[in-house]
Amino acid sequence: MNESELDRYSRQLLLPNFDIQGQLNLSQAKVLVIGLGGLGNIAATYLATSGVGHLILADGDQLESSNLPRQVLYDESQIGLNKVDAAAKQIALKNPAIKVEVIAQKLSSDSLLKAVEQADVVLDCTDNFTARQAINRACLLLKKPLVSAAAIRWEGQLVSFLYDQQSTPCYECLYPSLSDQQLSCNESGIIAPVVGLLGVYQALEALKLASGCGKVKHGVLRLFDGFEGSWREMRLTQDPECSACAHETGMMV
Ligand SMILES: [Zn+2]
Repeated sequence: MNESELDRYSRQLLLPNFDIQGQLNLSQAKVLVIGLGGLGNIAATYLATSGVGHLILADGDQLESSNLPRQVLYDESQIGLNKVDAAAKQIALKNPAIKVEVIAQKLSSDSLLKAVEQADVVLDCTDNFTARQAINRACLLLKKPLVSAAAIRWEGQLVSFLYDQQSTPCYECLYPSLSDQQLSCNESGIIAPVVGLLGVYQALEALKLASGCGKVKHGVLRLFDGFEGSWREMRLTQDPECSACAHETGMMV
């Protein structure tokens, strides 16, 4: 680590459970952020400024003005651009030393597996169940840690899954079947800071996984109610009937 890196990351290096080794681990980590909406914007920003060495950003959408209240990494001049290109440009201004790779398309099963395979940690920042299901199955198959978050109306939720561990529940044990309609904030609305808060929390979990420092409570669903201002937790268990994780031989991505 050179002088300017020691200076730049000095507040993290001061942490007794993080130190130089944690920072070096971050610099060598590759984190895949799928979805550059409200969650992915915030999570990718903190991962970049904290010194994660390689980010892979995947999203097929273009920036619209209705995105701006939540997607605070972007600015008005970027409306109409691919979100990943806009995000990469903003991130390069914040931390030019890290590598940012962009995938300007909705990941299909092949491209999804290829992207997940490269990553040390995967963040699901998407907004629909079909994508969440595919990401969950790719991470299960390749035994990659997955940090999944969602936000809608005044509510948010986060859960981390460590798929290299035995008998861990998976995303589909929690949500065996939901229609995209039920998960979409396009119809239901969203208050901007709730999505930001969950994006920050995703970044924290990803930083712990990538640095090897700190505890990641996996298989625990954290639910935030921004209207009431309350958190609650629920421990998940593996569903013996889960079509994704219970019968590995029948699993299809
Ligand atoms: Zn499952």
